Amino acid sequence: MRAGFVLSAAHLLYGATECPRVDKFLAKNGPLPMGDDGWPTDWPEWTAWFMANTVKCESCGAFNFTDEFVPDICGNCLAALPKAKDEDEE
Ligand SMILES: [Zn+2]
Repeated sequence: MRAGFVLSAAHLLYGATECPRVDKFLAKNGPLPMGDDGWPTDWPEWTAWFMANTVKCESCGAFNFTDEFVPDICGNCLAALPKAKDEDEE
């Protein structure tokens, strides 16, 4: 949501836990707009942003966000993370 992908954020939150506020919103406003592929309409942009702004922990597989700062250790298991890709290196 912070990166501007509101529909994908709502979809992920709704799929991960019980969300009385989202339930209430959807009951009032209807379902989330989905593309023909069954994913939120901002999903392609979200997945591109996600891949560009995360680093995957080689120890536990968790994705760690790098958009605000680049962590040295995994936020899930505390293992050292591989160095995030620098756009200049690609
Ligand atoms: Zn980890």
